[in-house]
Amino acid sequence: MSRGTLIDLLYLVAALTFVLALKGLGSPKRARHGNMVAAAGMLLAIVATFFNRVDGHPLHHVLLIVLGMAVGLVVAVPTARFVQMTAMPQLVAIFNGVGGGAACLVSLTEFIHIKSTKPATYVVLEVLLGVLIGTVSFSGSAIAFAKLQELMTGRPVTYAGQQFINALIGAAALAVIVMALVTSSTALLWVLLAVAFVLGIAFVLPIGGADVPVLISLLNSFTGLAVAASGFTLGSNLLIVAGTLVGASGTLLTMLMSKAMGRSLPNILFSAFGSVVTAGPGSGAEQRSVRSGTPEDVAVMLGFASRVVFIPGYGLAVAQAQNVLRELAENLEKKGVEVFYAIHPVAGRMPGHMNVLLAEANVPYDDLIEMDEANSELTTADVAIVVGANDTVNPAANDDPGSPIYGMPIIHADAAENVIFMKRSMRPGFAGIDNELLYNPKTTLVFGDAKDTLTKIVAAVKAS
Ligand code: NDP
Repeated sequence: MSRGTLIDLLYLVAALTFVLALKGLGSPKRARHGNMVAAAGMLLAIVATFFNRVDGHPLHHVLLIVLGMAVGLVVAVPTARFVQMTAMPQLVAIFNGVGGGAACLVSLTEFIHIKSTKPATYVVLEVLLGVLIGTVSFSGSAIAFAKLQELMTGRPVTYAGQQFINALIGAAALAVIVMALVTSSTALLWVLLAVAFVLGIAFVLPIGGADVPVLISLLNSFTGLAVAASGFTLGSNLLIVAGTLVGASGTLLTMLMSKAMGRSLPNILFSAFGSVVTAGPGSGAEQRSVRSGTPEDVAVMLGFASRVVFIPGYGLAVAQAQNVLRELAENLEKKGVEVFYAIHPVAGRMPGHMNVLLAEANVPYDDLIEMDEANSELTTADVAIVVGANDTVNPAANDDPGSPIYGMPIIHADAAENVIFMKRSMRPGFAGIDNELLYNPKTTLVFGDAKDTLTKIVAAVKAS
């Protein structure tokens, strides 16, 4: 077997591992394993590349490549290991931006490389699309990172005529591509780079922090497409397969997230959702009466319960209360109470946020029940405990056609006999809207940091 065939075979194995990894990532039980399979495939592809020959020549600049990889390792490994679960979306944003930037750099160097060989029009088009999509993904991800990291406002940044101006920038990028195709001018390549950079920023500015995770998923699919484009340019089947997989899975995830939020993708991208806060301190929302209780009251209520449902949300991640929540569940189970967790697909700030958080705290996977099944189980629950969730249990999504979250499927916490609502204040959730569930006669609010509150409840349950 020739060296070329062997390397192609290794690339095929690597591509297969990516497909298997995606399958594994579809379930919390197999996700960790899926990740390892993908990492092994990636390692195989990298090693094979070092032995590859292009037109009979071995890899150039091996030392420089190894140095680049070493720098990447030193930056990425500690960043990924020590990132807080609440900061995961911005980490994904920055990693994604780097991927888009790398794909753009490959296309840029290839353009300069192939220019003198009078390449076919479609080859130049691949290169130009790689530059455009990779750069949009790079600058867009950088702004998404800045929004999530609170380096700038998380609210939509809007101004008069914004969509028209954005459309103009998009049209300008396409015009530059057409001109570059006709003239093969390197100067136009730099113009395209600049226009694409501005387009990425202009595209992301009007998107509010609450919608940024969906945007990151979309930008991730852009990066996949840019990588696939550079795969065509370099004649690398592996890059084409890997890029297409990222592009397709990113698109699917974007669609699933839009569906779980009950909104269309154009609405998420262009409606500047979240620019107006309709509830919160000072809005008058806090003037209506609510029933509040103490952790000890909750322990008494739990003493009479036989079925308890936990509904976790973003506040659980903020409070880092996942371990003490599991401890409470274990204490209740010891007393013969049946416990499960109702998981909304967009609870938290990224897909699967709650699954990852609870898995980290060793909550058994079988106790995590997805929204639809959880909703049918909730009718028989004695107590639903909402821990740092808000929008994902807000009945306005069902009842109020004027609400910005109308149409979003929710977890019907109010179907349980009693509702315990843990939060620190009357402030709204990410959508910025008031929540009628807080005023429901079934609801008892326990104000405070979720970790503190849960710790006190555990102590009271143990003492009872
Ligand atoms: P929300 O953002 O609606 O609510 C979080 C709640 O947690 C707030 O009411 C807050 O109230 C409370 N909270 C914050 N910190 C603490 C703490 N330390 N202790 C106790 N409570 C705390 O969260 P949900 O998970 O219900 O909803 C997620 C939102 O994010 C949805 O709007 C969803 O559409 C959006 N989103 C999710 C994505 C995903 O993929 N998961 C993607 C894009 C958007 P208080 O400040 O009073 O404590």
